[in-house]
Amino acid sequence: MSHDAIIIGGGLAGCSVALQLARENHDVVLLEKATYPRHKLCGEFLSPEAQSSFQNLGVLDAVNSAGARSITRATLTGPRGWKTEHPLPEPALGLSRYRLDELLFKQACTAGVEGREGTRATDVRGSLQDGFSVQTNTGAVEGRLVIGAHGKRGLLDQKLDRAFLQESSPYVGFKAHYTGPPPSGPGTIEVHAAPGGYCGVGPVENDRVCVCWIGHTDALTAAGGAPEAMLDDALRRNPSLDERMESLTRVSDRFEAVSQVPLMVKDQFVNGVCMVGDSAGMIAPLCGDGMAMALSAADLVAPFASDFLSGHRTAAEFRTAYQQAWNERFRRRLRLGRWVHAAAFRPAATTALLTACRALPPLARWLIRSTRG
Ligand SMILES: Cc1cc2nc3c(=O)[nH]c(=O)nc-3n(C[C@H](O)[C@H](O)[C@H](O)COP(=O)(O)OP(=O)(O)OC[C@H]3O[C@@H](n4cnc5c(N)ncnc54)[C@H](O)[C@@H]3O)c2cc1C
Repeated sequence: MSHDAIIIGGGLAGCSVALQLARENHDVVLLEKATYPRHKLCGEFLSPEAQSSFQNLGVLDAVNSAGARSITRATLTGPRGWKTEHPLPEPALGLSRYRLDELLFKQACTAGVEGREGTRATDVRGSLQDGFSVQTNTGAVEGRLVIGAHGKRGLLDQKLDRAFLQESSPYVGFKAHYTGPPPSGPGTIEVHAAPGGYCGVGPVENDRVCVCWIGHTDALTAAGGAPEAMLDDALRRNPSLDERMESLTRVSDRFEAVSQVPLMVKDQFVNGVCMVGDSAGMIAPLCGDGMAMALSAADLVAPFASDFLSGHRTAAEFRTAYQQAWNERFRRRLRLGRWVHAAAFRPAATTALLTACRALPPLARWLIRSTRG
């Protein structure tokens, strides 16, 4: 076999697990279909838990040097003008995916990973017992282990005939960068809920503001399929968001977009391919924890995968240990996230939740804590 591990996808999960396996002296190839730097749809809010993963990877200083903004407060608003503000349990960060993903990919390559940009995996054949062959646009790659870190939903999932694709998702997401005053003052992440969806507004490097929203496809269709019209017609019915958008000027020349955002339950192993990050299960964007979860899942799988590659764990032991640990760490969080996400689309539920959080700050603290690690 030419490699110990083939990692598909150079986002947070893929770069992190590749780097960790390389540090354990495994021969790792990391396949990424895009070339860096590239913009990516994401609210770009790195919840506090991400920092301990960055620390463990030895990249926290580099992340801060890339211009990450410290975020210490969250403001939540509802369609009827309701607003509640809370300090975060620990500081979070705001950094664009344009900077962050390239930084992580380079760190992985420096640690010895063979990083292949512009390489799209198109199919995977094999097993943990016999090894794998991954087909790509630039030829086949062989390895003993394949880690699927290719994100929320893609053609590879269709090739692998994954069960979650049988359910369709009615959600679309958009993102762009703006200039203007920082949200609610420096160091604040804002989340604005409206009947058609919800929108995060947060600071990133270079005094830019990331505006990212997720909404129902019906709201996009009603807006004639144009993202900005969807923002104006459906989301800016929330007066706080409307006021915020008045002060911002878009600098991105286009919107990053994603459709069919899949929040449903997924399998962590498919045909022997071990899934990590959004490929294993995606938390509702409202929780602002997807990136920290992707990093945390990479921290979880790396020692099990390393043990398997070193012959200290059988394939069956590797599968059982990872699946069990994944469920213990993430399953409850994902369920609660789906519930809060659904509430955000219902004005009455949003108002009730915001009212309860304002009257009972411990409830807000519990929700923030329970939707993260
Ligand atoms: C609207 C919205 C807002 C969000 N806001 C936030 C937020 O503010 N904070 C937060 O923490 N999370 C947020 N998230 C979630 C977050 O973006 C994800 O949870 C996180 O990016 C998951 O990381 P990952 O490494 O698993 O996947 P990704 O970051 O998606 O990385 C996957 C990588 O795989 C590559 N790839 C895909 N297919 C292939 C292939 N076949 N071959 C090779 N490469 C491939 C892709 O190009 C990509 O680079 C948001 C999500 C949405 C939809």
